[in-house]
Amino acid sequence: MQAVRPKHPNCELYDAQMDALPIVERCLFCGWMWQGTAAEGRTEALAHRLQAHPEVKVKRRRPGRHLKSFRQPVLKKEDWTDIYSERNKRAQLHGVDLAEHAA
Ligand SMILES: [Zn+2]
Repeated sequence: MQAVRPKHPNCELYDAQMDALPIVERCLFCGWMWQGTAAEGRTEALAHRLQAHPEVKVKRRRPGRHLKSFRQPVLKKEDWTDIYSERNKRAQLHGVDLAEHAA
C-alpha cells in the first residue's frame, strides 16, 4: 500500500521490525500451520483461508446504517453545558488553568 505522505524513518524501522518477527500462523478451521516472518504470514494465512475455506466470509464489524441501535447519541446543548461545567470543576480541583491551554 502506498501512503499519501512518506513515513517517518522511525515508523518505517518499526514496521520493518514488526514485519520481520518470527511467527506461527495457525488456522482456526483446520490444523494448518505455517512458520515464518509476520509479513509473509499475513499473506500466507490469507491465501490458505481463501483456498481451503472459501465459504468463510469476513464479517464487517460495524453494522449497517439501517441499524438504529448503533447510532451515536446526539448531545443537546444542555448536555454539553453539563460536560463543560464538570470539566471546569475538575480542572479547578487539579489546579489546571484552562484559559492557559486554550488559544
Ligand atoms: Zn484451514
